[in-house]
Amino acid sequence: MAEDRYRRTNRHSAFGLSLLIFISLLLITGCASLGEYNPATGRSELILISTPEEVALGNDIHRQLDQQYKTSTNTKQIELINRIGRRLAQVSDRQDYTYQFFVVEEDELNAFTVPGGRIYIFSKLIDKLETEGQIAFVLAHEIGHCAARHTIKKFQAAMGYNLISSIVLGQLGGQQAQEVASLSSNMVMNIVFSAYGRKDEYEADRLGIKYLRLAGYDPHAGVESLEELARESQEGGAPLMLRSHPYLTDRIKEAKKETESLSKR
Ligand SMILES: [Zn+2]
Repeated sequence: MAEDRYRRTNRHSAFGLSLLIFISLLLITGCASLGEYNPATGRSELILISTPEEVALGNDIHRQLDQQYKTSTNTKQIELINRIGRRLAQVSDRQDYTYQFFVVEEDELNAFTVPGGRIYIFSKLIDKLETEGQIAFVLAHEIGHCAARHTIKKFQAAMGYNLISSIVLGQLGGQQAQEVASLSSNMVMNIVFSAYGRKDEYEADRLGIKYLRLAGYDPHAGVESLEELARESQEGGAPLMLRSHPYLTDRIKEAKKETESLSKR
């Protein structure tokens, strides 16, 4: 009897281990055919963090950011960013949370996104960009990262083995949220500001251009906005934005192709 139970347990853990390896491989190679179809990317994706958990994580991060950064009191800029942001959010492929937009009072060129649909843009970047369309592209690009679930995937990848094993071993029910909560705040910020991969950047640009067009902006503003950043980087060293959104030169080429193919459709 005892031996039988032992054998069964062993079989179970062997199964659990194979499943763990299988899911890890899917996550590492990014070719998961499991999971949910994402209309933004046209792929099925294995997302282990639910939307409510993602939003809860975003709330925590927002509280931390609030202590680190000064939010703008420039009502003109805040209104502008919210007006443009709302217009773009309506056409996003991802609608399972509410997008929120914030202006951060910083003398740096940057925009970034945290899980749960919160998008931040630095006041200096708003000042540097020349047209509403160019500012819209920066926000649309960030919405693209949200819709393609790039932001939450960075967290998923960083949590890796612990998160996956807790799911494979059936310890669901808030476990993922606990895993996230166990990360130190430094680690969380490192993930927020870490660079996306080249493919993710192309994808966010492609979605950004798509959302510009759907929201009634001229899609050429995408390339203009990237070229403005390139000029800035030549003049005064690399803008901070390139740390979390790199590959600028190649992105300009890809964005030009995307905009041209849009005008032919
Ligand atoms: Zn980006």
